[in-house]
Amino acid sequence: MATYPVAEINLAALQHNFERVKQLAPNSKVMSVIKADAYGHGAIQVAQALHASDAFAVARVSEGLRLRAAGIQQPIVILEGVRALDDLHAAANNVLSLVFHHAFQLELLTSVQLNKPLSFCWLMLETGMHRLGLSCEQIEQALAVLKTSSNIEGNIGLMSHFANSDLIGDSRNQQQLDLLMESANQYGLATSMANSAAILSIEESHGEWIRPGIMLYGSSPFDDQSPQDLALKPVMLLRSELIAMHALNIGDSVGYGGNWTADKTGQVGIVSIGYGDGYSRHLSNVGSVVIHQQKVAILGRVSMDMIAIDLSNVTEVAIGDEVILWGNDLLTVDDMAQKANTISYELLCQLNERVTRDYHHGQS
Ligand SMILES: *Cc1c(COP(=O)(O)O)cnc(C)c1O
Repeated sequence: MATYPVAEINLAALQHNFERVKQLAPNSKVMSVIKADAYGHGAIQVAQALHASDAFAVARVSEGLRLRAAGIQQPIVILEGVRALDDLHAAANNVLSLVFHHAFQLELLTSVQLNKPLSFCWLMLETGMHRLGLSCEQIEQALAVLKTSSNIEGNIGLMSHFANSDLIGDSRNQQQLDLLMESANQYGLATSMANSAAILSIEESHGEWIRPGIMLYGSSPFDDQSPQDLALKPVMLLRSELIAMHALNIGDSVGYGGNWTADKTGQVGIVSIGYGDGYSRHLSNVGSVVIHQQKVAILGRVSMDMIAIDLSNVTEVAIGDEVILWGNDLLTVDDMAQKANTISYELLCQLNERVTRDYHHGQS
């Protein structure tokens, strides 16, 4: 049976990118961020390959439980913390570490006696993003609650998150870091602030724990720097197959809405991938693919199961030929994200279970 589309996941490239993280922040411990199924790469396989991580981070308790069930042993930090009591009990029973970002979470903690105390917990400080976090004023009391609670053991860290670390030199980054350092110094807490962009560009922010996400997967957090510029290797190669070909005459239009029309004779190819696989419909008329080592355009709209591509200048092409959607030297997911007016994170996360993940330890 022909299997397509396939996302080939190169675990050697993943490990290369992890080494790159270590090289950039040699004095920090690494909390590898594997939320959203490791940005579409498969959280369990990625966690196993990144066994040198000091900890992992995911967004939700359910994601942490899945990793524990698969036998992952490292500390697992739940970045959103808990929402309700059953989450809190599940976290304690499965040795998950929590972020406390809101007063209601501290109230939950003090309202119960857990079977096992939680360890390696974090307070999230609001420093400018206005997403999750306690104010500077709330930290003192929150810390007192955690330190006196029998539900908590071990050290507590102070975490915050940059809103603009992809904008190199933006003064708001320094302001956020100053606020974090002020509180951390006041209470003598270990810090964690740096995501990929900050690991790459704000050395002062590295602190005790860094939290790399996108760079592990070989994509750049910056608009104007490619993965190659940053010595990162793409981990995912997304490919499918050509399932039909047709000649086009002048005036023939392609796909729903007919919003691409041939102005000369040529050839269209149909590839089996579409928005039903999570391939973005925003790539309609603007995306490209690679076939026979040649970059060619997507013609017309992305359908649910298929896209149309321009084969007019590709010779000796046949049904069944491999088509690469992203992940090789000619075409990165970063390129396609720019075309789709979004970020690589979204294109990677969107791929759904209709895309087969195929793991290998090939040349990085
Ligand atoms: C997702 C996330 C990260 C990782 O960010 P990247 O830009 O992918 O490196 C780090 N910290 C927090 C709190 C996050 O939500």
